[in-house]
Amino acid sequence: MSTIKVHDKTFATFLSESAINEQIKRIAQEINTDYKGKTPLFIAILNGSFMFASDLFKELDIEAQVCFIKLASYQGVKSTGNVVTSIGLDVSLKDRDVIVIEDIVDTGKTLHDFLPQIMDQHPSSLKIATLLHKPEALKYPLTIDYVGFSIPNKFVVGYGLDYDGLGRNLREIFQLAE
Ligand code: 5GP
Repeated sequence: MSTIKVHDKTFATFLSESAINEQIKRIAQEINTDYKGKTPLFIAILNGSFMFASDLFKELDIEAQVCFIKLASYQGVKSTGNVVTSIGLDVSLKDRDVIVIEDIVDTGKTLHDFLPQIMDQHPSSLKIATLLHKPEALKYPLTIDYVGFSIPNKFVVGYGLDYDGLGRNLREIFQLAE
């Protein structure tokens, strides 16, 4: 097992490039089957999902569209807590088959806060695809339709995911070493 250093922390090899590609191909095949004859709209959440979105999109053989958004949360706008706003969502979702693309679902809060905004626009369907999922960390009820890997509750970096802004360019995924 090889290790790398990102900033001040050491990370160990966790998911290889070929294992990642294999899971992306599997998810793409499932989507190709599930959406045959349809034109789904993928909404990829930046920054972390850019590599996954790109590689997944290349494996699709159905008609599909993609857009990229950023989420911004504001504290204290309402007494209910954080309000998540999407930046760059300039496509109408009405009557569309929407698939949200995430790099990782951890507590599930990001999606839990964001999905109602999509539902407000009345899509015909809504599914979630994530490369990584930490089931032990999930705190918000969420149905995830396409999962690349279910992983332990440890911090990971690489393949789009960062540690303090760095490590996104790594081709493999690394896990924080003990
Ligand atoms: P959630 O809202 O599900 O708790 O967290 C989702 C976001 O937290 C992800 O999109 C990602 O930006 C960040 N995140 C959660 N776990 C990790 C991790 O292990 N590594 C990195 N780099 N980011 C993570």
